[in-house]
Amino acid sequence: MTYFSLNFGSQPVSFREALLTGQAPDKGLYFPTEIPKYSPKNWLDFKSLSLTELAFKIIEPYIKDDIPAPILQDFINKTLSFSLPIVKINESIKVLELFHGPTLAFKDIGAKFMSLCLGYCIQNTNKTTTVLVATSGDTGGAVAQGFLNVAGVEVVILYPKGRVSALQEQQLTTHGSNIKALEVEGSFDDCQAMVKEAFMDTQLVELKNLTSANSINVARWLPQQFYYLHLWQSFNQAIDVVSVPSGNFGNIAALLIAQASGLPIKHVIAACNANKIIPDYFKSQNFIERSSIATISNAMDIAKPSNFVRIQQIFNNNFNALTSVMSAYSFSDDETKDAMRYLFKNYNYIADPHGAVAFLGLKNYLNNKPQQQGVFVETAHPYKFSNIVEETLVTKLTPPVAIQNLLHVPQHKTKIKPFYKDLKDYLLST
Ligand SMILES: *Cc1c(COP(=O)(O)O)cnc(C)c1O
Repeated sequence: MTYFSLNFGSQPVSFREALLTGQAPDKGLYFPTEIPKYSPKNWLDFKSLSLTELAFKIIEPYIKDDIPAPILQDFINKTLSFSLPIVKINESIKVLELFHGPTLAFKDIGAKFMSLCLGYCIQNTNKTTTVLVATSGDTGGAVAQGFLNVAGVEVVILYPKGRVSALQEQQLTTHGSNIKALEVEGSFDDCQAMVKEAFMDTQLVELKNLTSANSINVARWLPQQFYYLHLWQSFNQAIDVVSVPSGNFGNIAALLIAQASGLPIKHVIAACNANKIIPDYFKSQNFIERSSIATISNAMDIAKPSNFVRIQQIFNNNFNALTSVMSAYSFSDDETKDAMRYLFKNYNYIADPHGAVAFLGLKNYLNNKPQQQGVFVETAHPYKFSNIVEETLVTKLTPPVAIQNLLHVPQHKTKIKPFYKDLKDYLLST
């Protein structure tokens, strides 16, 4: 399988090349030259496989030229090493919980799989690879955990001082080893601008073997199909609708590529917060760009979702084909809090703000379809957003066992100013 640039200005590359560079030289996102298709009969047969066998079957065509089958299967087994419960809310609604991994967010799956692939693909290069990543919270933690102690890799994470939660900061700063945390005296946008500048500094890229681990990397994107395979295996018939809380639209784009392979999910909902460029596009067919708005579901505070071009490609840029399968809705913080209270009061279910947005998308869609059943995706453990959850529900959350110890581990971080020169000096000094 080769991957082409969605800007159509670069040569197609191998999985390995797409993984190591992240983005095409023409700045386009990589997309597979072919989407494997399976028949309805195939999909029924897939139910008898274990999840790790099915995950292998679906991802193998994308990767097999670069990673041998037994190694790939081992990476899948290591990635899917925690539970993905499907919890019943009522007769027509279930929730797929993706937050039982080490950093309590669904990004653990993509980050772990990518780190294993990267560790493998660089093993014969005798130079250390530096993974540079800017985070507004969840990405950094998942990348740090995924790459911890991967031989030949140093991870440098930039995060904005005072703008990540206390738990997120612990997740970024307590690993030590090959994980370095830079506390930037600035905003997330400053962090991202510094990282971008580093990638444009060809001399530095060469010298430090710089690579990125952001969500546009195909090795983080494609394994996100796994949990939808798991969802399918738990159903007795085609799934009417799945609602995904969406920010950069990588997660939902993975669901849609699996669907393009025949995964029997009939309708897909992108549930957004006040950052509603895509819901607006569904109404008007126009992209009206605004700057990002801060919300309580802050992992989705993204003005211009990078992965949306992949979704358009899946539907061959046909708007009618796209909207027959996918809907997009936007909800305010007040609606999100009401949904959290509603789920807690009526079903004793504690949702985090991201999951609550997805619930709203599903409820909205099912409103006049009493005979249909659907699933919403819960992407973060409520404890990750304990302040807002505790305040909204007037209840106290217990820290999950996975992080209880973490709360007391000392931090290791380097403070830097929000200037590229400071980042460069840091990178050259290590
Ligand atoms: C990253 C994130 C999202 C958004 O996922 P995308 O793939 O960027 O659409 C949603 N919820 C949580 C908790 C996240 O961390």
